Amino acid sequence: MLQPKIKPPVVIAIDGTSASGKSTNSKLVAKALGFVHVDTGAMYRTLAWYCLKQHVDVQDAKAVAALCRRWKTTLKCADGNAYLVVDGYYPAKEIRTAEVSAAVPHVAAVPKVREWMKKAQRECIKFGSLVMEGRDIGTNVFPETDFKYYLDAKLEERSRRRAADGIRENLAARDQRDSQRAVAPLMIPLGAKVINNSQMTSEQTSGMILADIKKRKAERDKAQGRSQKAEVR
Ligand code: C5P
Repeated sequence: MLQPKIKPPVVIAIDGTSASGKSTNSKLVAKALGFVHVDTGAMYRTLAWYCLKQHVDVQDAKAVAALCRRWKTTLKCADGNAYLVVDGYYPAKEIRTAEVSAAVPHVAAVPKVREWMKKAQRECIKFGSLVMEGRDIGTNVFPETDFKYYLDAKLEERSRRRAADGIRENLAARDQRDSQRAVAPLMIPLGAKVINNSQMTSEQTSGMILADIKKRKAERDKAQGRSQKAEVR
């Protein structure tokens, strides 16, 4: 007789350009599925903030890597969100300043930092099934997942969204840095569903992602069922 298999946690990877709606939609998808939401950008921002706080030059890759080796962090999960706490503190507001936004791509381009972050981000699976947003989730952090999404929108629309949040930022410059770095650059993951949501509401975008997850899951279950039957024979 076939033993019922314990289902492993699932990861939904949502990558994309800056201000393309990753956070809003990842949270909506996580809520609908009852999965834990992980904002990996917040993790990089926390390190950038910590560098500034410790007076470490973010353009000095060696100094940034050394700080990343010695900072004292813990992964926490509360109210359906996983995040990184440094010295027992989560700098929720501080990581959203213009200064941190300008510093973060420098920190994120350091190979040792990316290695450290990948390990911490993969560790989040201990909290259960995840909706993880970032720039390299489908390509580098969880390349094995069947559920990959890439969000984008016209630059004018993304800048308008940021301005509506009271933030003025050169998004094109940040995207360029993120796309051109040597390690794990921002790119469309192989097999990802690309959604340009310039003219879509977040309900429409998250609805499209949820419908696609359902479709991919049915396909995957069908393929797994076929291979299980083949094993029994
Ligand atoms: O998503 P958010 O805009 O908060 O990300 C801030 C920055 O963190 C990005 O511009 C990028 O430099 C870096 N990042 C990254 N890889 C991720 C998530 C964010 O390099 N997976």
